[in-house]
This record gives sequence, structure tokens and C-alpha cells, in this order.
Amino acid sequence: MEKITYQIKPRTSKIELPSKLGFGKIFTDHIFEMDYSPDKGWHNYLIKPVENLSVHPAAMFIHYGQSIFEGLKAFHTVKGDTVIFRPETHLKRLNHSAKRLCMPQIDETFVLHALKELVAIEKDWIPTNSGESLYIRPLMFGTDEILGVHPSKVYKFIIMLSPVGAYYPEGFKPVKILMQDDYVRAVRKGVGDAKTAGNYAASLLATEIANQLGYTQVLWLDGVEQKYLEEVGTMNIFVEFENEIATPKLTGSILPGITRASVIQLLKDKNYTINERLISVDEFIEAYKNGKLKGVFGTGTAAIISPVSEVTFKGNKMVINNGEESKLAVELFNEITEIQRGGIADKHDWITNVATEVTV
Ligand SMILES: *Cc1c(COP(=O)(O)O)cnc(C)c1O
Repeated sequence: MEKITYQIKPRTSKIELPSKLGFGKIFTDHIFEMDYSPDKGWHNYLIKPVENLSVHPAAMFIHYGQSIFEGLKAFHTVKGDTVIFRPETHLKRLNHSAKRLCMPQIDETFVLHALKELVAIEKDWIPTNSGESLYIRPLMFGTDEILGVHPSKVYKFIIMLSPVGAYYPEGFKPVKILMQDDYVRAVRKGVGDAKTAGNYAASLLATEIANQLGYTQVLWLDGVEQKYLEEVGTMNIFVEFENEIATPKLTGSILPGITRASVIQLLKDKNYTINERLISVDEFIEAYKNGKLKGVFGTGTAAIISPVSEVTFKGNKMVINNGEESKLAVELFNEITEIQRGGIADKHDWITNVATEVTV
């Protein structure tokens, strides 16, 4: 295994976390970092104090968006272990994004090792209250200093950590979402299935408009016809019909969520009929009118499960399940939370233990 250089700066004061952590507002003391160049491959493996980056104004990623990321979480279990939820799958998806954006592959085994080392070093930053966690943000970007449009030759890879609060500190708060066809997030054969910077920039305007109208999120429709449901905000979407649970199939414009995959597995375990298929707006509205729409929820690492109370399309408001979270949404949320916190068995090997002995 490649050797990491540790530049650890011991703290002179105790870590004091604010009572309201929020999301991604504070960062731990250290990051992991490595560099890529065509002649050396990945090199300069470092765990070092967080500091500002120094990049040339021509750096590729700033201009042309050659930038990808991941988002995953570490937890303290009820037994006092430190664990990460499905890190192998997240690193695999990072490589998938890298491939789509013409960026170099990472060695998933080595980066997992580096990630565990970093989390172990920063373990005192992991908040302990239920629902809180340490959010892990790996990112990679091209830094060639040249304005021609081409794949960068040199890259930086960073893992940063941020203690985050419970998404629903006072219990579930189902969200109102706006289904609209004025803007799309991604198109098939584009980069919608990669976690790449531009997708998020592209989603801002529609989200701002939805927010101004009093909605929390946008329900994205497909990029070609605006006929099919795709995602909700930066989450995947599940629809509970009368005799079936459905989630949009991965057509290429949808981000293959790991929470989505976990939910599909848990639903299969419970013998639900779960189908990955196209869900049209017409079908959705029809099911609503016929009382066959039982629940809607989003899935993603940050919220895990985000129940939807209201969907509005062209001025028509559809109140889902009397505006309350469905029983299934609550059940899935509790189940995933319990697996992450070590409260129930981890049947599918989703939990990776972090050895708390750092090999510095
Ligand atoms: C990250 C993300 C998701 C959720 O993926 P998870 O792996 O479940 O966190 C869904 N949609 C978009 C657009 C995303 O960026």
C-alpha cells in the first residue's frame, strides 16, 4: 500500500461543536489530499491541516467544470464503534463519475484506507446525538493551467469532513415540492448520472424559483419530453402506489443513489413489490385522482428518507397521504438509521468499521 505522510497538528483546545450543527458549515481540522499527473499517476498522499487552496486563475475546473464529488457519512454506533456507511460503493461511484468526465481513476482500496485513517484521526469530531453524523466529502478536480478545452492532465483529490446535524431534529417534516417543466436537471446520455459540479449549478435557478413560491424542492422531469418523473431536488424519488412501490429506472439522467439502492434492497427483504420503471406524470396524477397514490418520498445520504407532503403541477396541488409521512417512509428511515447506528443487524454488509488505532 502507498504511504501516507501525516502532518497532524495537535489541537490546543477542546473541540466544541455548536448545538445546531446544520449541514456542511463547519469542518474538521484535517483533510486527505493527493495529486495526479500523467508521469507519476497519483502521488503526494497527505493527511494535513485544512488550508486554503492555491490555484492558477486558468485552472481547468473553474472554467469548464471538470469536477466531481461524493457524499457519505460516518457514525458512532451505540456500541461505541466508528463506522462508515457503504464507502466502497461511494468510491466506486466516484470512479464512475471520473470516467464520464475524462478524469483518472482512483485506487478504491487505497482511498478507502486513507479515508478510514482520516476519520480515525478526526473521530472526536463525530457528533454523538441520534441523527447526527460526520459527513464525508471526497472531491476531484482538474487543475491544468490552460484555457483550451480538453481533459486536464493534472488533478487534485481531497477528502474533507464536516460534522452535520440531524436532518429532522424534531421528527419528520414532510416537504412540499414543485413539479415543473420549465427547466430540466439533466438529459439522457448527458452527465446526470455523474456527481459532477455542473449538474448542481444547472439546478439552482429552478430551485430558487420553487423556494420563492414556498416549495422546498423541485421534482425534476425527464430532459427530453418532461413526461416522466426523475428526481426530487438532489434526491431520488419513490412513489407508493396501491399495489406497488416504484422508483424511476436509471435511464442515464438519474443519479444512481446509494440510499436508493439500499431502500430497494430493504423493500425486497420485506417482500414488497418494488419496480424500477418509468413513472409518467400522467400516471402519477391519475393515481392521485383515484386515491391510489399512497406516499411519495425522496432518498439521499443527507436526509436518508424525505417524505413529500405536497406535489404541485401547473397550479394543481396534490396533497399526499393527508400531508403526513407514510408508515413505510418512517419504517425505512428508522431501519437505515438503526443499521448505521449499529442498533440492528447489518445483513447486507453496508457498515465498514474504522479501526480507531491510527497507523501514524
Ligand atoms: C447524491 C445525489 C443523490 C442521492 O444519492 P445517495 O447516494 O443516496 O446520497 C440523488 N440525486 C442526486 C442528483 C444526487 O446528487
